[in-house]
Amino acid sequence: MSDKFDVIVIGAGPAGYVCAIRAAQLGLKTACIEKMQNSEGKGVNGGTCLNVGCIPSKALLDSSYKYHEVSKGLEKHGISVKGVGLDVPAMIDRKGAIVKQLTTGIAGLFKANGVTSLFGTGKLLAERKVEYTSSDGEVTILEADNVVIASGSSPIDIPVAPVDGEVIINSTGALELQSVPARLGVIGAGVIGLELGSVWNRLGSEVVLLEAMEDFLSIMDQQIAKETQKILKKQGLDIRLGCRVTGSEIKGRGKSKKVEVTFQTADGQEAKETFDKLIVCVGRRPYTENLLAPDCGVALDERGSIYVNERCSTNAPGIWAVGDVVRGPMLAHKGSEEGVMVAERIAGHKTQINYDIIPNVIYIHPEVASVGRNEEQLKQSGEPYKVGIFPFVASGRALAADESEGMVKILAHADTDRVLGCHIVGPSAADLVQQVAIAMEFGSTAEDLALMVFGHPTLSEAVHEAALAVNGHAIHIPNKRKR
Ligand code: FAD
Ligand code: AMP
Repeated sequence: MSDKFDVIVIGAGPAGYVCAIRAAQLGLKTACIEKMQNSEGKGVNGGTCLNVGCIPSKALLDSSYKYHEVSKGLEKHGISVKGVGLDVPAMIDRKGAIVKQLTTGIAGLFKANGVTSLFGTGKLLAERKVEYTSSDGEVTILEADNVVIASGSSPIDIPVAPVDGEVIINSTGALELQSVPARLGVIGAGVIGLELGSVWNRLGSEVVLLEAMEDFLSIMDQQIAKETQKILKKQGLDIRLGCRVTGSEIKGRGKSKKVEVTFQTADGQEAKETFDKLIVCVGRRPYTENLLAPDCGVALDERGSIYVNERCSTNAPGIWAVGDVVRGPMLAHKGSEEGVMVAERIAGHKTQINYDIIPNVIYIHPEVASVGRNEEQLKQSGEPYKVGIFPFVASGRALAADESEGMVKILAHADTDRVLGCHIVGPSAADLVQQVAIAMEFGSTAEDLALMVFGHPTLSEAVHEAALAVNGHAIHIPNKRKR
């Protein structure tokens, strides 16, 4: 192996591996270092997203939804299903097979694009040198014209509920449970807590989510958040807001071990709950452990993220950082786009990212998705806006599919009619919101969307009708007074 590269990427998650592939496509001699190992102790690419994040969680969300449907949801379609069985280890194995297929796929993509894949740990030294410690402990000093840090994030631990990997687990452990806990506690009703809570709720756990904040999904559009909360309550998720966990104690031995959780309720009382398992989902923090030599010149911001500008350039020349380890939402697609931008900038292009249009999805059922600004943000900014809402109960396609919960909400500028945001809770919300994201990227007005022809019957018609409703022209619902 030659020790000099055009680009060295540290971390092969969705930010790093995408960056490495794009850099190699652009003719740059590229290496990507990854330290993660699979259960067999072999180096594995794909980072959090492919191994313990987006993909395995969606595999379990989809499997558990199928189980829920056949065991509870088909009678009204005239289908009765008897003797439904559940094999949790088989479900977990299927998830594992998908992870394996995708992570080995990255190895194939690296090979096809000429990326040098190195398993082991990378540490940034001064002057664009990288200390590479291979999986078997051999140390090599590599050099590059550009180094891209894509070291991602790790789950936040809280001392009041220390993860023991057995009774108290984090998101990674929650993707590996081999049986359904009778009573499952989740600390944090954020995106990951809701997704994992939904998986085990559908499979039969009694799920209690303890959330410190008093508002549900406080950073989301609150009308959509309230609708989502109602839907989840109907599904049996016990979401307790304003409940801050203050302690935990493992009780019992062996298989009968449980955890008693102490928390402070919204009205200041101390309360206790006992669970068979407890998932700690209180967020993630940027991961920079053993990554930066003291003289490497890279600064962190006050939250421990690597400080970067809009173009993902750090304050050290030739050193870039992308993905969860830098500011902004911790989302796989945000990191991947940053990876592409950096690769292209290194190759001399002028690529930019529009950080105002990054979709965000919660993969519960129905899905919750948003892009752009929400009503609370617009109110706060003082910008004049108008709202168009279309409920799925008025959509023929949604009714036919028995998926009529939720709504599409589009916000547009009151004067220019330009679309400023879209917020959906409902069937296929993730894919529907992307339509509006594309429209926004092209500077669409609500009227532009309204003038488009949408196929019938489709769920997309709900987007069309919401865009029509912005200006009081919806056809399939009575319009609120034109604003
Ligand atoms: P990571 O994916 O964390 O990858 C960083 C990699 O760098 C890791 O593999 C790590 O081993 C490696 N590394 C770190 N330090 C070094 C070093 N010194 N040397 C070598 N290698 C190193 N996001 C979505 O957009 N959609 C979702 O549906 C979604 N679902 C999620 C569900 C769960 C349960 C979780 C936990 C996360 C989810 N996320 C989701 C978030 C998403 O996984 C992250 O935003 C994404 O993985 C970040 O990508 P990244 O490349 O920046 O970092
Ligand atoms: P997210 O940032 O989407 O991953 O969500 C994490 C959630 O965990 C946030 O909504 C936090 O308010 C919540 N949280 C953090 N610490 C605690 C705690 N000690 N008890 C209950 N909820 C918490």
